[in-house]
Amino acid sequence: MKKIAIIGAGTMGNGIAHAFAQNGCQVSLIDVSEDSLKCGLKTIEKNLNRMVDREKISVEAMQSTLANISTFDSLDMGVVGVDLVIEAATEDIGVKRRLFSQLDEVCEDHVILASNTSSISITKIAAATNRAGQVIGMHFMNPVPVMKLVEVIRGYETTDEVAEKVMKCAEDLQKTPVEVQDYPGFVANRILMPMINEAIYTLHEGVAGVSEIDSVMQLGMSHPMGPLHLADFIGLDVCLSILQVLQEGFGQAKYAPCALLVNMVAAGKLGVKAGEGFYDYAEGVKSKSPANQFLK
Ligand code: NAD
Repeated sequence: MKKIAIIGAGTMGNGIAHAFAQNGCQVSLIDVSEDSLKCGLKTIEKNLNRMVDREKISVEAMQSTLANISTFDSLDMGVVGVDLVIEAATEDIGVKRRLFSQLDEVCEDHVILASNTSSISITKIAAATNRAGQVIGMHFMNPVPVMKLVEVIRGYETTDEVAEKVMKCAEDLQKTPVEVQDYPGFVANRILMPMINEAIYTLHEGVAGVSEIDSVMQLGMSHPMGPLHLADFIGLDVCLSILQVLQEGFGQAKYAPCALLVNMVAAGKLGVKAGEGFYDYAEGVKSKSPANQFLK
């Protein structure tokens, strides 16, 4: 995979672009929003600068990583000459099916189409194309340059050859791929999201405050980050979409998103990317102070 395209320059798209570009790949970063492209590139530069400051990479490596990334606001120009497309657009099945149908039209026949979806059926996304055998899930973890896991999800028709190529591609990126089957939430979010949702219910019912819930899980279960803090990093809109996919996919009440989560998303309190979620990030992402409404 010498040249790849990434659709979506948001939280995940810019991280995936960073990881591939740092590994010597030519990356086309594509987004419908000019602001997202600018913001995505700025984030990559900021993260690379931090790596230079910590002496993890040289200034030359930072410059060549940035030189490997080109930005595009339309699909057709961005996918020219690529071997792999990784879609990291909004977690919405309609958006993803439309994108995959367009990608199927504009990409060369050999191109593998991967989705970074957290929960949506790869088989349903693949059905929007005429190359279902070449559609696969490549679920990176946030922050991508740091996290080792890639959940590789085989759709109903994904071929062995495509799965092998994608596993190898993740290994070449110094990641650890784990192959899983295509059921709602796959493995990672089927287990993680009910825990985050339960933490939100615990807050909503007044059992404990934001800091207390996170402290219990950090100090008591050795989690590196509490579930509410983690939800802020993932994005509360993304968490809500995943829970809705789990609830619809399994038809079980235990996946119903807490009303507090629904309200916070409606109010635009989406977590780190919005500057406020369970915590207030006005003083930067390292803030550990609960947002105003959660202060007792
Ligand atoms: P985000 O909201 O930060 O970014 C989404 C980007 O997609 C935006 O920049 C938006 O402009 C762009 N976009 C939307 N429609 C588009 C289109 N038709 N063409 C091109 N660009 C389009 O979202 P995110 O958190 O980066 O999530 C992206 C995907 O990755 C989702 O499927 C999500 O479930 C998944 N994911 C997220 C996380 C996480 O921690 N946030 C972790 C793993 C996987």
